Amino acid sequence: METDAIKKIKKIFKDRCLTDKLSRIQYSYDATQRMYLPDVVILVENTREISELMKIANKYKIPVVPRGWGSGFTGGALNVDGGICLSLEKMDRVIELDLENMMIWVEAGMVNWDLQEYVKPYGLFFPPDPSSWKFSTIGGNIAENAGGPRAVKYGVMKDWVKGLELILADGSVITVGSKNIKDVAGYDLVDLIVGSEGTLAIVTRALLKLHPLPEAKKTLQIVFDNMREAAAMVNKILLSGVIPVAIEFVDKFAIKTVKDATNVNLPEADAILIIEIDGNRAEVELQTQKIEQLAKNNKSVISFFVAKNAEEEGKIWFARRTISPTLKRIADGKLNEDIVVPRSKLAEMIERLEKISKKYDLPIVNFGHAGDGNIHVNIMYHTDSADETKKANRAMEEVFSECIKLGGSITGEHGVGITKQDFLEKQLGRTQIELLRRIKKAFDPNNIINPHKMRL
Ligand SMILES: Cc1cc2nc3c(=O)[nH]c(=O)nc-3n(C[C@H](O)[C@H](O)[C@H](O)COP(=O)(O)OP(=O)(O)OC[C@H]3O[C@@H](n4cnc5c(N)ncnc54)[C@H](O)[C@@H]3O)c2cc1C
Repeated sequence: METDAIKKIKKIFKDRCLTDKLSRIQYSYDATQRMYLPDVVILVENTREISELMKIANKYKIPVVPRGWGSGFTGGALNVDGGICLSLEKMDRVIELDLENMMIWVEAGMVNWDLQEYVKPYGLFFPPDPSSWKFSTIGGNIAENAGGPRAVKYGVMKDWVKGLELILADGSVITVGSKNIKDVAGYDLVDLIVGSEGTLAIVTRALLKLHPLPEAKKTLQIVFDNMREAAAMVNKILLSGVIPVAIEFVDKFAIKTVKDATNVNLPEADAILIIEIDGNRAEVELQTQKIEQLAKNNKSVISFFVAKNAEEEGKIWFARRTISPTLKRIADGKLNEDIVVPRSKLAEMIERLEKISKKYDLPIVNFGHAGDGNIHVNIMYHTDSADETKKANRAMEEVFSECIKLGGSITGEHGVGITKQDFLEKQLGRTQIELLRRIKKAFDPNNIINPHKMRL
């Protein structure tokens, strides 16, 4: 970076402009465990100073990579081209809680969990619940259009962001969106920014919708001897008029992994569905009865269980949550991706994954959000084997292309970043990629905001 630019930046940020090696290393990685050193890390505190910073960066054409808590799985927060790591971790305040409209303005660096805790005493919650909610920020959640188990009923970030304060590449500050439930004035820039992976603008503040906390909830578990029937059950439940908060699935390889690694008493089965329902007490009772009836009518159901208390709920979720940490027992290498297919294709995709596993002679463990067709595919291999490493990468390529053939997407949660950029054009096609590039150019003519992510 040019010394002139560094001097100007240091003058604004003083001891919040970090150039020592240790700090740069601390901000050089994310959950991909790849490393790219930024030239400088800046701990920003407010909109005005970010605007000043962007004017300098734009003038000297310095890459700026916005960063939340670095929990991303696709390298989005990595300074691939060096430059400035713009950390929003200090911008974590609530600006305005509007109870009448059930909305809240927060700074982008606020951790999702802290927001949940803040609104809970008011009888409210913020529905998007990525599993990383204790260590990911609202800005990062917006950039990746994050979602979690609750997406079946409550949707993902796109469904809950009403407005944004943005800083553009040239330093201009704009507010897009509004508190109006209906607002069709101009293009919907809020929707464009949500899921744009920090490539178009810096999000400094977000206006989010909130939802009243449900009166009651219940967790159910259905065990199947047939994966196809488990997948079909998801649709049957929804068609019956029950919209569960979450419908998670665990496949037979994941069940075996957990059984081998823990003393959890899981049955020999092809698949498990974990279902969470919420609402008022009467609604929850009725929904439970409907699902129980569907389970009773299904010959592939081995068992149906309703948790009676928090301890039993914990036991049901334990199996699902234990999969990831136990995978390392199979092999030290893991390629994990977050493909998504239309719900109706879930069973077919699982069968194709089994075929790929046999073809490459590598274990593939699958689990995820059955309610929205989102499968966490884990291809396991030994990193000291060049042959297995090559096979694992080839197997993942095949996973992506089978998923696209079924009308699915290479990413349902984690975005494209740098890890999946080779596959984006395969899914979207050349014309759409060119259109995305033109949009990027309109926002950021000098290509300084998170350059080269998604290969735009
Ligand atoms: C154990 C684990 C579980 C996870 N579970 C889920 C899950 O269930 N669902 C899910 O969707 N994801 C999940 N993730 C992925 C990750 O947590 C999410 O993508 C999260 O939204 C990233 O937030 P972050 O603050 O860590 O962002 P970072 O990793 O710091 O950044 C991610 C991207 O957002 C951009 N960005 C960050 N802040 C801003 C800003 N203010 N303005 C503009 N761009 C910005 C960055 O440039 C980067 O491109 C998981 C990750 C881990 C490690």
